[in-house]
Amino acid sequence: MGYFRAVIDAMTGYVPGEQPAPGSKIIKLNTNENPYPPSPQVAKALQAIDIDHLRRYPDPLAKEFCQAVSDTLKVPADWVIAGNGSDDILNLLVRACAEGHERKVVYPTPTYVLYKTLSAIQAADVVEIPYPESFQLPIEALIAAKGAITFIASPNSPSGHIVPLEDLCTLAKNVSGIVVVDEAYVDFAEFSALPLVEELDNVIVLRTLSKGYALAGIRLGFGIANPKLLAGLFKVKDSYNVDEITIALGSAAMRDQTYKNARASQIKASRSKLSIDLRCLGFSVLESHANFVLATPSNHSAESLYLALKAQGILVRYFKQAGLDDKLRISVGTEEENSILIEALENEV
Ligand code: PMP
Repeated sequence: MGYFRAVIDAMTGYVPGEQPAPGSKIIKLNTNENPYPPSPQVAKALQAIDIDHLRRYPDPLAKEFCQAVSDTLKVPADWVIAGNGSDDILNLLVRACAEGHERKVVYPTPTYVLYKTLSAIQAADVVEIPYPESFQLPIEALIAAKGAITFIASPNSPSGHIVPLEDLCTLAKNVSGIVVVDEAYVDFAEFSALPLVEELDNVIVLRTLSKGYALAGIRLGFGIANPKLLAGLFKVKDSYNVDEITIALGSAAMRDQTYKNARASQIKASRSKLSIDLRCLGFSVLESHANFVLATPSNHSAESLYLALKAQGILVRYFKQAGLDDKLRISVGTEEENSILIEALENEV
């Protein structure tokens, strides 16, 4: 007998974007982190942490954080589940809902690769429905696939497009399983699917503090759904999936919407400028509602551009997979970082 289950032997593990050592001079535009620091309120909360409290386990329900979400987004606190990043909640959903041929995982592609990885670990069948070139949601095919879970990232990665609420609503009303609207990038978009959660008890909206709130390093995400849906996830989650320090820092960040929104506006303005500058260099760039752009060079190999940028200390994301291998996903950096990137590309194209 081998050490591992057959599905683990057969699968490829998720490969995160490269993380250079802290302090290195790399311009890092490959994992959609926020180029600006978190709210000053987070630094204050960190200083206020009582070391003696760390002897104790944290609150299993992260109630302080759920209350901050409740006050900010005007949803009841018991409609919120906190996780060790939104990846943790994606994992809980797959573990709680998916299994074999009967309880499939369904999603349109290209999208966040972790959906596939988690399904493989769970030995759940996956149905991938390709987006058309217009990126209109393939609603009929998604419904016909009868998922126990249907994942829709909106804004989507790596395309950056956003899915209209009417389409999400039609989908959720016509599937018997759960619809997960993964809103990791919603802070850079114009609307959210949150209003659907109140109406439809099979919809869960996922958010993260990794992008808009510039807190990828503390790992904090959350889901908002009817408590009937959350009940199953609470049974599966680790008792103490969010630590004491993260609860305090995340709550402070959540309560400072003014800071988060100001930084998001700055990033959205830089996104427009970066898109224009890339188009001037001959790239075709999809309209993005996130903190990155997906850009296709006109006469150059995306892979060689990725390698040339890397050699100059600029990391962008290159996906060596069909449909994406002619493109680069570029996170929006500071104005200065974006200018350095554009200058480097000017010399290459
Ligand atoms: N969903 C999408 C679409 C993402 O791109 C990411 C970040 N890679 C996540 C979820 C996970 O975010 P986190 O676990 O940092 O909250």
